[in-house]
Amino acid sequence: MTYKILILPGDGIGPEIVEQARRVAGWYAKNRNFGFTTEEDLVGGISYETHGDPATDAMMKKALAADAVLFGAVGGPQWDKLPFDKKPERGLLRLRGDLKLFANLRPALCFDALKDASTLKPEIVSGLDILIVRELTGGVYFGQPKETTTLPDGQKRAVDTQVYTTGEIERIARVAFELARLRGKRVASVEKSNVMVTGALWRDVVHRVHDAQFRDVQLTDILADNCAMQLVRAPKQLDVILTDNLFGDILSDEAAQLTGSIGMLPSASLGAKGANGRQPALYEPIHGSAPDIAGQGLANPIATILSFGMCLRYSFGRVEDATLLDKAVERVLAEGYRTGDIMQPGMTKVGTSGMTDAILKALDGLS
Ligand code: NAD
Repeated sequence: MTYKILILPGDGIGPEIVEQARRVAGWYAKNRNFGFTTEEDLVGGISYETHGDPATDAMMKKALAADAVLFGAVGGPQWDKLPFDKKPERGLLRLRGDLKLFANLRPALCFDALKDASTLKPEIVSGLDILIVRELTGGVYFGQPKETTTLPDGQKRAVDTQVYTTGEIERIARVAFELARLRGKRVASVEKSNVMVTGALWRDVVHRVHDAQFRDVQLTDILADNCAMQLVRAPKQLDVILTDNLFGDILSDEAAQLTGSIGMLPSASLGAKGANGRQPALYEPIHGSAPDIAGQGLANPIATILSFGMCLRYSFGRVEDATLLDKAVERVLAEGYRTGDIMQPGMTKVGTSGMTDAILKALDGLS
């Protein structure tokens, strides 16, 4: 089977890190009989500069036809003052919206070799393995009205709207319960049902889905503020965190910090399986375009390489190949290779392509 991957490097460090994932994909093509074709296109600031639009219709057409999209990062200070609909980040939001990617999966995994790099005590994070399942296409980022008006007295008034429907909550809850079955069989559902009606509906619907189909999975409710606290107090009590768009955005960055560096963390965004069995999917590192280190060969490529690993696992069903990549990364870290963001005394400092060289060598050794 030949898979079609659309590569969207984007801005800042995007092109450098995506190139490393491409090298890893090449290794799989050569050594593991992984058949794929790639197309590449522009997104974000570079697309705005070239076409006047952060996500063109032509690029979207390619994304809709691909088996998976591999995305780098978008944004940079030179585009900060653009109107809202031209900002680079709108490119990513359009991809998520048009591909209907409602489920965002973010693992927060602490590699043993990096437990000292976390700002928390090693015993708190060692062995940490959390999966955050965030609803991605609803909630306050998309709810209407979303506007700023001027009041008669000259003040401005800005409104965002938090909105969820039963169906939106049901489908993301199912994703979380199904993934929990493949892991520790525990789901913590996170909302603010004490002060928000959307939170109360969230809690009701999640329990209904659980009671109907997933009684074998343990379900706990946690208020979002308490979850933020538990993540730094005792994160290992958590297995799968199921939450909405806004809380998921915040909690997943907090969880990222537990693991030492955002340069390490991949993500997957999935849509609903169509009648033809195809499931739209976009894979990307959780970090941004890191303009401060762009073009210098310093970026940590591991988050993007592991995003390709998630693509192998979730889009192409190549679980063994994905596990092999996790092991290669683990080995390279255990051998002491570090990019600047995760550097520790006594370790070997490497750049973006040096880290990939080491991972490719580890893949050779492990396969
Ligand atoms: P950022 O994630 O780009 O960078 C935060 C810090 O982490 C920086 O010091 C950066 O050097 C470092 N960092 C990030 N990725 C790294 C890597 N792979 N290796 C080593 N160090 C790394 O966040 P920011 O600085 O808040 O945002 C920069 C730009 O990226 C902004 O324009 C923002 O809007 C955009 N952004 C894009 C996305 C996305 O494309 N998905 C996500 C977040 C931010």
